[in-house]
This record gives sequence, structure tokens and C-alpha cells, in this order.
Amino acid sequence: MNNLKNLRGTVDLLPVQLIKWQNVEKILFEQLARASINEIRTPILEMTELFIRGIGEGTDVVSKEMYTFVDRGDRSCTLRPEGTASVARALIQNQILSNHPIQKLWYMGPMFRYERPQAGRQRQFHQLGVEFIGYDSVRSDVEIIALAWDILSKLGIKELNLEINTLGDTKDRANFQKSFLKWLEINKDSLDLDSQNRITKNPLRILDSKNFQTKKALKNAPRLFDFLSEKSHSRYSDLKKQLDFLKIPYVENFNLVRGLDYYTHTAFEITSGALGSQATVCGGGRYDDLIKQMGGPNTPAIGFAIGLERLILLAGKELEVPRNTDIYIINQGLIAESLAMDLSRKLRNYDLIVELDLSGATFSKQFKKANKLKSKSIIVMGDNEAAKREFLIRLFDQSGDENKEEVISFDNDIKLENWINKNLLAN
Ligand code: ATP
Ligand code: MG
Repeated sequence: MNNLKNLRGTVDLLPVQLIKWQNVEKILFEQLARASINEIRTPILEMTELFIRGIGEGTDVVSKEMYTFVDRGDRSCTLRPEGTASVARALIQNQILSNHPIQKLWYMGPMFRYERPQAGRQRQFHQLGVEFIGYDSVRSDVEIIALAWDILSKLGIKELNLEINTLGDTKDRANFQKSFLKWLEINKDSLDLDSQNRITKNPLRILDSKNFQTKKALKNAPRLFDFLSEKSHSRYSDLKKQLDFLKIPYVENFNLVRGLDYYTHTAFEITSGALGSQATVCGGGRYDDLIKQMGGPNTPAIGFAIGLERLILLAGKELEVPRNTDIYIINQGLIAESLAMDLSRKLRNYDLIVELDLSGATFSKQFKKANKLKSKSIIVMGDNEAAKREFLIRLFDQSGDENKEEVISFDNDIKLENWINKNLLAN
């Protein structure tokens, strides 16, 4: 029989890799809590219709990338390709918005898109998303961009580029689309095939094409920016002023439209030169019409999503370092082993990493293991110690000079606690 393998585009995250993931997640959770944003968890599996209505039929995600199947009850189900539509559905369905019309929310978890796997692109990948629901002020746009920027900076990521654009409101876009479609009719032949196919499905997305020939042709196309109403214009200049004030550097990119259908006004992306061709680590924008379109109350909103695999690639090497064991318990002998087990449970009441050696091997072997793990301290418990209901605890000074050690009675919790406080928990 062939060995079983995982599906293409999915990966196992092994313990050594997860050290970095967990360190990054810890910083993310802290930053989100400090910004007073609450978590929301929605199902990974949803009705297919949610994404068709919430993302848009003409988008790449819905037309080519979804994992869709029929379940045993003949329902069409889809593994979520992104988080925003599900969050919107959950808020509407649970009638949260009538009592809490404004919400700052985050979610994190796996997303699924049937794409060609390559560095920084998988079929099962992870996103952290933040959504500010019910906020319509420019200040909320600024706060959300600043939040994304600060999260990335907090992780020590350099070479960040923020690109911004405005897509105007639905009316501005409709006006632009009319004249853009006329131009597309005439200039169809100078576009790549992919873009030609988008003319009827999702013409705005053509602006975002990476194709060189298309990019060149688009230089002469009408610009969405010129179709913005007075109000949309001033909203956008306000955004730029406030970003300037916060000293968050940005570049304007008139062709930044983003993949999903539901965006209005502010759209932004954060890229990093260090990522190569899949350079976008964070994408976001305002979606004032989505919740209403999905059957909820009229609720403006803005959000972003960070791709965690790309974030992990960018985050510094220092985050790959595991936290060392604080106490390694070396133990051998019938009574000693029972007492050591008991002791290990007691020690887990402290913020310490405690490892109990279960090998029953010789002291010298266990000692070597503790050394290899760079444990900060060891406890030694053999038959001699066990007979006296005591143990030796020793600070494992890696330089080898000054080893502080103490013999502590098994029942003297106060002495143990003092030793721990002084030697392991201080500083
Ligand atoms: P791209 O242009 O790279 O396909 P996108 O516009 O489809 O990105 P979004 O839907 O905005 O991406 O998702 C937000 C972020 O999620 C992206 O910036 C990226 O970091 C990450 N992401 C999207 N698709 C994948 C994927 N298949 N594998 C890994 N990360 C992804
Ligand atoms: Mg994509």
C-alpha cells in the first residue's frame, strides 16, 4: 500500500515550527486585547450561498478557488475562504447589531482556497482578521490601518510598505464603470486573456491585474479617482492627513482594488519586499454595503486580514527560540518516582516549565538530558532523598561557576516557594 500523504497545498505544523507560531500568536493576542478588540469564532464550514452572496460571484475566490461539496443531506457546503462574510452572517443571525451596533472584533483560523501552491500560498492557510463593525468615520479607517501597521511593527517586521486607495461609494463606482466599460470595449485586444474574461464578470478587478501588457494599456484608461464625488474626495484627503499626522508612511496606488466585491471607499494593502512574489501580508478595506446586502441593518464597517503564513515568514528569528525548561526533575527508585510525580504537580502551580523525567534511566543519563535541554535548574530525587522525604534543588548555571543548591524537605512548601521566587521567578 502507498504511504498516505497530506493533500496538496496543506501542511503539517510540527512542534519545532510551532514555537514561532505560538510566540507570534502571543504577541498578536496581547496587541488585540490592548486595543480592546473582542474575539469571535464562526464555523469553518458554511452554506455555499453565504460566500456567493457575501463575496460576489464574479470574484476569483468564488468562481475558481472554493472548496465546495454536497453533504449527506444534499446541502451545498463550502470550507470558508475568508472570514468577513461569516462574521457578518453571525452578527445578523444572532441579532447582535440591534443591541450592539458598534463592535470591534477579531478572528483567527484556517481558510481554504483552491489555488496553485507556492511559497507563501497554500490551499489551507491561516488568517488573522479584524473587523470594526458600525464605524463610519475616517478615524476608524485610520485606527484600523494603524492597528495593522503596529501589529506588524511589533513583530519586528521591517521593509513594510503601506499602499492605499479609495474606491468611492457605490454611485461613484457605477459612474466610473460605465466609462471604463466603454474604454474596455475599444481596448479589449490590448488586454491579457484573463482580463478580457473579467470584462463581463468583474471589470473593476482588471485594474488589479499583474499582467505587464494589461498594466501598460491601463495607463490610458479612465481613472476611478476622477469619478469620485466631492464627499468621497474629501474623505480620502482626510484619511491621508490623519495618516501623515501619525507618521505612518503610505504610497497611493490608484489601481489597488482588492479581490472581493464588497469594498467601498478606503482600500489598503501592506506588502513586504522580503516576501518575494507573494508580497501582500495584509489586505483590508471598508465595506459599508455588505451587511445590508446580506439582509442585516444598514451598518458601515471596515476590516483587514493578515495572512499568518506570510507573517511567520517575515517575523524575526528571535521568535523561533523556545522558552527553556525551568526545572528538570531527575528521579529514580520506587518511592522517589512517586514522590517526584507528586512534586511535579505541585510545581505546576507556578509559572514554571517543569519536566519530569519518566525514563527510569541512570542518574547520569537523566543529568545529561537536563543539560541538553538547558534547564535552568534540576531537582534530584533518589532513594536516599526519598527515605528522608527531601530533595536537592540546584540552579544549573550554564557557565558552571556558582551553582546554588539547597536540600528541601518534601513537606516544606514555604522553603520551596522562597527558593523558586528567589532563583527562578525573580527578574
Ligand atoms: P493574493 O493577491 O496574494 O492572492 P488576496 O487578495 O487573495 O491575496 P485576501 O483575500 O485579501 O488575499 O487575504 C488577505 C491575506 O491573506 C493576503 O494578503 C495573504 O497574506 C493571505 N492569503 C490569501 N490567500 C492566501 C493563500 N492561498 N495562502 C496563504 N496566504 C494567503
Ligand atoms: Mg488570492
